[in-house]
Amino acid sequence: MMAAERELVIVSLYPRDMNIYGDRGNLLALTRRAVAHGFSPRVVDLNVGDAMPEQVDIVIGGGGQDSGQGRVSVDLERRAEEFTALAADGTPMLVICGLYQLFGHRFLTHSGDTLKGIGVLDVETRGGAERMIGNVVVESRDFGEIVGYENHSGYTVLGPGSEPLGKVVQGAGNNPDDGTEGARTGNVLGSYLHGALLPKNPAISDFLIETAAVRRYGEFVPRVGEDATADRARAAAKRRPR
Ligand code: GLN
Repeated sequence: MMAAERELVIVSLYPRDMNIYGDRGNLLALTRRAVAHGFSPRVVDLNVGDAMPEQVDIVIGGGGQDSGQGRVSVDLERRAEEFTALAADGTPMLVICGLYQLFGHRFLTHSGDTLKGIGVLDVETRGGAERMIGNVVVESRDFGEIVGYENHSGYTVLGPGSEPLGKVVQGAGNNPDDGTEGARTGNVLGSYLHGALLPKNPAISDFLIETAAVRRYGEFVPRVGEDATADRARAAAKRRPR
């Protein structure tokens, strides 16, 4: 098979319930970036009740209201084993905000409900009285400087099975107290950052694509590098006050 024909199946998690603050932009950026690297992305929307495709190369999902999270958590629980197995097998995943919370062990909402998570990430979230809102700048070991926008009332804390994506330079991130943002276990990334995240941080798209390509085809030959749009977005996010 020619490199240009290589397919990557991207599973878009719960786009009907979990797509706020433009998180759909992650899918657009990821598919374009995959094309730029010479792949042929196939997007499969996975809403509540839908069947999982046989081939899964990348999983991405966005944020949502607590009410949407309730619907989704019930469906996600049924699929916990499947996602745990995919994660253990090295499938790259990116989950934002509401789904980040549900990829952890549980989300105790501010109104007193407990939403069960699937525990792919070793994190736990509790709804606080104060929302954390604003632009965020993060220094990360794996992706350099990451920028985005947060708007959540969930306070997330990490256990030893996940490491933070990075340290917050501006904004709150996981919680107002420990200076961390996001979580990583293996190739699964969770983050509070909307923006959307991927158009502004192509290094994360490249990580997802490279990891998927190596896992499925045994190799990855990059065809594009960092781009000027991402550099401008990072500079603008830093200039703007909270
Ligand atoms: N409802 C969750 C919270 O406020 C998630 C919000 C979001 O996805 N932006 O913490």
